[in-house]
Amino acid sequence: MSNYAWKSRLRAIVGNDFLLDDAAALLAYESDALTLFRCQPAAVVLPADADQVAACVAVLFQAQIPFAARGAGTGLSGGALVAAGGVVLALTRLKRIHHLDVQKRVAIVDPGVVNLDLSRAAEPYGLRYAPDPASQSVSTLGGNMAENAGGPMCFLHGSTANHVLAADVVLPDGRRETWGNVHGDPEDLDLRGFLCGSEGTVAIAVRLYLKLLPIPEKVVTLLAAFHSIAAACSAVSAIVAAGLRPVALEVMDQATIRAVENSVYRAGLPTEAGAVLIIEAEGPAQTVAHDVRCIEELLTNFELLRLERAETPQQRLAVWKGRKGAGGALGRLAPDSYVMDGVVPRSKLAEIMEYVAVVAAESGLAVANLFHAGDGNIHPHFCYDARDPEQAALVENSGAKILRRCLELGGSISGEHGIGLEKQHLLAEQFGAAEIALMERLRRVFNPQDLMNPGRGLPLGKGCAEAFHRHGRIQNG
Ligand SMILES: Cc1cc2nc3c(=O)[nH]c(=O)nc-3n(C[C@H](O)[C@H](O)[C@H](O)COP(=O)(O)OP(=O)(O)OC[C@H]3O[C@@H](n4cnc5c(N)ncnc54)[C@H](O)[C@@H]3O)c2cc1C
Repeated sequence: MSNYAWKSRLRAIVGNDFLLDDAAALLAYESDALTLFRCQPAAVVLPADADQVAACVAVLFQAQIPFAARGAGTGLSGGALVAAGGVVLALTRLKRIHHLDVQKRVAIVDPGVVNLDLSRAAEPYGLRYAPDPASQSVSTLGGNMAENAGGPMCFLHGSTANHVLAADVVLPDGRRETWGNVHGDPEDLDLRGFLCGSEGTVAIAVRLYLKLLPIPEKVVTLLAAFHSIAAACSAVSAIVAAGLRPVALEVMDQATIRAVENSVYRAGLPTEAGAVLIIEAEGPAQTVAHDVRCIEELLTNFELLRLERAETPQQRLAVWKGRKGAGGALGRLAPDSYVMDGVVPRSKLAEIMEYVAVVAAESGLAVANLFHAGDGNIHPHFCYDARDPEQAALVENSGAKILRRCLELGGSISGEHGIGLEKQHLLAEQFGAAEIALMERLRRVFNPQDLMNPGRGLPLGKGCAEAFHRHGRIQNG
């Protein structure tokens, strides 16, 4: 099928205004939030509903054109890109909250609904959606599902996969199925679980059935300021070792604190502190009061610069403003950020932070740390300029060193950002050949021609990352 023919057929489905193919419009779709990888698609289609998604996919399948779904494009591993000649299916127009079943605590939503909008809609009914990535005011529930996103509250409530009951999906040839069920009953083959975290490589979710949780009776947030990041990490281990189960344990280092305080996200954080730890407890009022007392007592073993307790929604919002805005604040420090994602056992947090400092010093680049400490999930932020190919290569190599150390310490190369294009070359260092072959076989059952999000996630040995101008685009441009 000629370019003209498939584009005409897509236009007939979505309407003229919702197929973009001029260079200026495509620019916004050439990367996600990981700007190390860029590639302009041949076209972007913006379907209005599930029927249009299925119809577009069927046309692309017939024309054998590669395609990738895209939510808000906040992904940090290069997941929502497609190689030259491919088509991006942007799902941001699918943004209806179809139904909130208050009794069953289930939300039925479009995949393009922004994460925070669901909690806002559920709030009047005393309900909320628990997974809260720091990008929650922008990222979509479909993108969260595909990356199995985490967030501060996931320490207690688990990542996105724990909150997805079922999904209506479009398969790579345009057929539609429902995976999972709203009752959350186990099925012989857990396709729902398979979908969550599959990075858009096996099916596109066009409707999601999500679990809602009651808003807790009481929430208290503590902000503890430490002299050093090592002390903050030790406090995290001590809290967990004491059997306390706060909902969130988040650390920000001095570089992050200072970037926040120099930005519109200013939250009154102590800029002299080596690190701050945000601890949140939620639940019945009496339990929370008990847990907070225990945590505060435990923290007296550390030489704190400051300990604040936030109880009203306004006080708590003020504490979280700094944490949730930190990514944006760090974005001001350099033209580009490389936000890494690795995991270590919690007891190894201080050790990996020491190593990050060594690698950062070697690189000569500014590096800041903010992370989901309860989950041992680190996110060093490298601030750099992608227009300089040497800096781009340097941040990527530095990131790989840190991820290799995560593996040596018994951790993982990804906690929540996915493999995407970024970590394909490291996957074989975590998994054996047989495991990777099994994953590849599973994907091919659903996506045999690899048309849906091709070359993503698994190391296919085709140099796919290079097709996305790894370190090269600006050099050439
Ligand atoms: C400042 C900042 C903070 C962040 N904080 C966190 C955090 O705390 N925790 C965390 O986990 N992540 C975080 N992220 C990363 C990112 O926000 C998440 O990965 C998020 O889930 C991506 O959602 P999105 O809508 O932007 O998806 P996109 O980036 O558009 O797409 C991500 C992947 O999902 C696939 N996809 C999208 N929609 C669908 C669908 N309907 N069906 C199937 N596949 C689909 C795409 O093909 C792609 O592979 C952060 C990012 C930024 C920029």
